[in-house]
Amino acid sequence: MPRRKLIAANWKMYKTPAEARTFVDAFLPLVAGHTRDEIALFPSPVLLPAVVEALRGSQIAVGAQNIHFAEEGAYTGETSVWQVRAVGGTHTLIGHSERRQYFAETDEIVNKKLHTALKHGLVPVVCIGEVLGEREAGKTESVLRRQVTGGFAGVTGLAAEVVASIVIAYEPVWAIGTGRTATPQIAVDAHKIVRAEVAKLFGDAVAAGMRILYGGSVKPDNATALMSQDEIDGALVGGASLKPDSFAAIVKY
Ligand code: PEP
Repeated sequence: MPRRKLIAANWKMYKTPAEARTFVDAFLPLVAGHTRDEIALFPSPVLLPAVVEALRGSQIAVGAQNIHFAEEGAYTGETSVWQVRAVGGTHTLIGHSERRQYFAETDEIVNKKLHTALKHGLVPVVCIGEVLGEREAGKTESVLRRQVTGGFAGVTGLAAEVVASIVIAYEPVWAIGTGRTATPQIAVDAHKIVRAEVAKLFGDAVAAGMRILYGGSVKPDNATALMSQDEIDGALVGGASLKPDSFAAIVKY
């Protein structure tokens, strides 16, 4: 069965609730009737209720940019899986490179968060990708393999339908927010490495069904070249997802 693409917006630490509503009001008519792809918005946690409310009745999913691995507890400043679910969030990013880079998230933490998300039925979008130095040193493959095996530890024991809900986002760190996009060939080659690693862990059938998104300076003018690759199962879009017209153009590549 062909994998349905997921086009996701990572709004990072931008927008107020009012700005988020304005975005949704402008965006919904632009994608009305667009059923080919799944669409998800990942606003910061304080915006989740407003975005869920504004999207009510649409097919667009809403997710958190991060969750804590604990279900609840004394973790000042963090957001729990329960809190995300309680306000209508259905997805979560895990291990975004900005979390890895600025908040010291390791593969071990990513793995704990993944287990928490899966236990509570949030669709996890696990972000992986090499930094420029690793690519230049020829280490891309080993980094991606390490991130998959480390991030997915213990997931092999879970039910097949739970594992099937996992989405991976390959985001070469050198392409995030830099305007420097991976060529379709670079992205496809990396996705093949990731899919082969997933096959080793979960078998060929699971690997064939798992969605691997590309992220890193996806814009309206490069979306078609990237998204028309069979190996690329959607996009995680940062900067170009902040404006309704540019995100809609990417959705409708
Ligand atoms: C991201 O934040 O995941 C991302 C890919 O950002 P940008 O599209 O701005 O590179």
